[in-house]
Amino acid sequence: MSQNIALKLARPNILKLKPYSSAREEFTGNEAIFLDANESPFNKPWNRYPDPFQQRLRQRIADMKGVKRENIILGNGSDETIDMLFRTFCEPAKDQVISVNPTYGMYKVSAGINGVEYKAVTLNPDFSLPVDEILSLVSTTTKLLFLCSPNNPTGNCFADEEMIRLLNGFPCLVVVDEAYVDFSTGGSWVKKLDQYPNLVVLQTLSKAWGLAAIRLGMAFASIEIIDLMMKVKPPYNVNTLTQEKAYQALSDPAVVNKRISTIIAERDRLRNSLKELPVVQKVFDADANFFLVKVENPDEMYEYLVKRGVIVRNRSKEALCEGCLRITVGSDGQNNYLLQAIKQYPATENDITLKQSWEKVSDWLVTPERKAVRHRKTKETDIRVEINLDGNSKADIQTGLGFFDHMLDQISRHSGCDLSVKVNGDLHIDEHHTLEDTSIALGEVFAESLGDKKGIERYGFALPMDDCAALVLLDFGGRPELVWKAKFKREKVGELPTEMFEHIFKSFAIGARCNLYIKAKGENEHHKIEAIFKALARAIRMAVKREAGADTLPSTKGLL
Ligand code: PMP
Repeated sequence: MSQNIALKLARPNILKLKPYSSAREEFTGNEAIFLDANESPFNKPWNRYPDPFQQRLRQRIADMKGVKRENIILGNGSDETIDMLFRTFCEPAKDQVISVNPTYGMYKVSAGINGVEYKAVTLNPDFSLPVDEILSLVSTTTKLLFLCSPNNPTGNCFADEEMIRLLNGFPCLVVVDEAYVDFSTGGSWVKKLDQYPNLVVLQTLSKAWGLAAIRLGMAFASIEIIDLMMKVKPPYNVNTLTQEKAYQALSDPAVVNKRISTIIAERDRLRNSLKELPVVQKVFDADANFFLVKVENPDEMYEYLVKRGVIVRNRSKEALCEGCLRITVGSDGQNNYLLQAIKQYPATENDITLKQSWEKVSDWLVTPERKAVRHRKTKETDIRVEINLDGNSKADIQTGLGFFDHMLDQISRHSGCDLSVKVNGDLHIDEHHTLEDTSIALGEVFAESLGDKKGIERYGFALPMDDCAALVLLDFGGRPELVWKAKFKREKVGELPTEMFEHIFKSFAIGARCNLYIKAKGENEHHKIEAIFKALARAIRMAVKREAGADTLPSTKGLL
């Protein structure tokens, strides 16, 4: 098959097309006064159009996948790359594409949108590819073959030998949609691009990478195919936020690999547990983060689960999927709830145990608030501290010590927490009790509002501030500890005695049950202590950050 297959298959109007040339394409330097794209000079950096060719992101992906940047085109999700394939290669009302049944629905929808005939061959009963039947459908107007491997909804990978027969025998483009490849034992076809000039591989950040919201799909193919698709793609189809978020995520694949292992382990546990249940007739094999389950009354079971707050996909009307629900693997808590609900099928809505567990599940669905109030009253101080970890830096601080107020204000401002601190202390004696007790109470509201600490980052660190260098490392791991490496020459800053600084942070560490390492250097004493407070606030901001929906503890011990 010649390298020119792309040119042979492309729509004639696309071959002739002179693509839109965006303002940013004509100038390639960095620093310039940009008066070319009718953008606003204000609101940096969002005022500028994104890089239309996503060069930095494509290079990162190329390095990761072992291909050239020129072998990659990015889309607003895989769905856009599917659409681009139609618009580049398929003549409306003339050409046709082939796929299998059952498979991902968008190939057919995209064909319909583009006015292209869609032919589907039903898979063999064991979900393998009917290669001969597919080949027998090919005509002079066939342009694309869509194969999803691992296939949605059947969950299996197609055998290499069958795929190779199709790649060699199919005189058109073979599009292998690998949306779920990261969960599978079979490798990716991206490595085979050099061998098969008619191969197009689709991948996405929507599944294993946990980034469905940012919409980033990738297509890998020969440079000739990609060049043609580039002519068709909207100039700024991948926005700057997506490009940045994707680049950042791809720089840390270890995090994703860990999540993939967790999901695979949960998948196997869930499948094994489901096999034990009498209402479950069959649990299908799975090479993805979902699998099919055959039950006696799929429609009833589907409705029953909906009533209990669990939404699965009813695939029972699809070819070869009679009686089947498709279940996506969730977190351990979500999977346990699903198992419990299926175990109790056909329980009535008034069933008390299910009601109780529904209350539990609603906790997972609605991310709990992280707020705490502490009222601490002794003979020496009367303190009320209130916090909302997920606030908007709203501060209301009145300790009676102006400089301390200023410092606590920094904590709120730079950590993002809403913080209210009201203190009536024995300042007529000295500052000691007010500083110590307030710091303990402040630590305590952090400890309390962090709750079970599920889903939090746990660690935080911060670096230089102002003219001083302040280093604050923080671990909300449960063990109070302070390492203090800061010296102050002046006796007081404002009305605060500098000898109390170490004590303030020690008290905070005790209250918050956190580990603090603080080091600061600098000349100006005011700046130095302010830098420490700001750095602490920044460290807190990182450590309390919670991944939406995450319910795992950031610890291998299982306890924090
Ligand atoms: N391909 C397959 C096989 C899918 O199942 C899906 C989504 N369910 C997609 C592509 C869509 O991917 P994206 O979110 O990148 O558009």
